[in-house]
Amino acid sequence: MGQENSLPLVDEDTPTQTLENRSVEAVGRMLKALEKRGEEGERGERVVVMTGAGISTSAGIPDFRSPTTGLYANLARLNLPYAEAVFDIAYFRNNPLPFYTLAQELYPGKYRPTITHSFIRLLHDKGILLKLFTQNIDCLEREAGVPGDKIVEAHGSFARQSCIECKTAYPEQGMKDAIREKRVPRCVDKACNGLVKPEIVFFGEQLPAEFFANRDLPTQAHLCIVMGTSLSVQPFAGLPALCREETPRVLLNMEQVGGIGSRPDDVLVLGDCDAGVRKLAEAAGWLEELEALWARTAPEKAAWRLEEVRRAKEEEERKSNMTADELMEEEVAKMGREVEETLRLEKEQHKWLEEHYAGKRAAMREQNSWLEEHVGGKAAMIGTEGTENAAEDGAAAVRRDSHPEFTEDSGPSDEKVMRPVDEDSGGGLGHVFPFLAKRSSL
Ligand SMILES: [Zn+2]
Repeated sequence: MGQENSLPLVDEDTPTQTLENRSVEAVGRMLKALEKRGEEGERGERVVVMTGAGISTSAGIPDFRSPTTGLYANLARLNLPYAEAVFDIAYFRNNPLPFYTLAQELYPGKYRPTITHSFIRLLHDKGILLKLFTQNIDCLEREAGVPGDKIVEAHGSFARQSCIECKTAYPEQGMKDAIREKRVPRCVDKACNGLVKPEIVFFGEQLPAEFFANRDLPTQAHLCIVMGTSLSVQPFAGLPALCREETPRVLLNMEQVGGIGSRPDDVLVLGDCDAGVRKLAEAAGWLEELEALWARTAPEKAAWRLEEVRRAKEEEERKSNMTADELMEEEVAKMGREVEETLRLEKEQHKWLEEHYAGKRAAMREQNSWLEEHVGGKAAMIGTEGTENAAEDGAAAVRRDSHPEFTEDSGPSDEKVMRPVDEDSGGGLGHVFPFLAKRSSL
């Protein structure tokens, strides 16, 4: 399966076997056709979906494997010997506290499912979802309303918990209480007293039996949708390759992965998952339904989005009733308005900048005189190089306050000092607003 990763993309001229062509629109039509077959009594449950962390990042859940923005980066404060230790069963046995600290951040209920999760729910509502294979442990598919028996949580999840020694199940409420109270739950069997943990697969643990029981399902699929995964963790990464050659495989991801794109019926929808899902739903004629479904996962936050879609649809209908001349006339008028609006915004922005700098300059003058009075003498001036001694801390603090991009990271070694204000060069903030330096007329 590793070889599939390095397969070249299918040649543009290669004809498709199942789809009309390799486009989102063709996949949309196929979804619609599958739905129709289901309605006509044929077994329609023919879509397998495979997902990873990328479908949950827009929900605010950090990506485990991303070194800069990921969870691992936040683990330093837990004093772990190495970041992965938090999910290592041997480490957990000795010290379960770091995991339970982290579990507080990850425990279901804090995050809202994304529209991508709702899309999977929609596939189920349409009667065409065969199975969802997910690597995520966040339970957002469940929260979006996908029933548990349609989900294979390949790396486990927070949905169940048990004793790591005797495997006895532990009550959900007990786990919620433990997580809230930051304590480590113990086996309900007092004689065992083993540690309890959510059934998330740790390093050094087997994948759940249901993964192996279902792993051949992709061979039965008529359509495979892969979303938000780098397909880098085996054996999960091998699932798409199990699909039959003629089964279309659609990849919604930031980049091409896992050899998807190498077969005649592979379709790549590269970019943000939520945007890709909206395209796919639109192509199937389901967008409004999808937005409505997603809105129900957090009605107060989602109503505006629904309104937006409804308006776009109305607008489209209105335009479909207009003649070509009328459309042209409207387009010209619209362009005129846009030019005016741009000019107006530019003017306002310039005015805002001017006022903003005038304010900044005044504030700096005040700070300088305050520092001179309170911290004393020659050293305190912001903008003078080589601040020293007692003045150092005060001046540095003021520099940070008045210039927020100077974070602690700048450090003393490459300390940036705000230059004295130069009236002619736009306030010396060219490094913040580069265009100021170029346009001396400002
Ligand atoms: Zn036990």
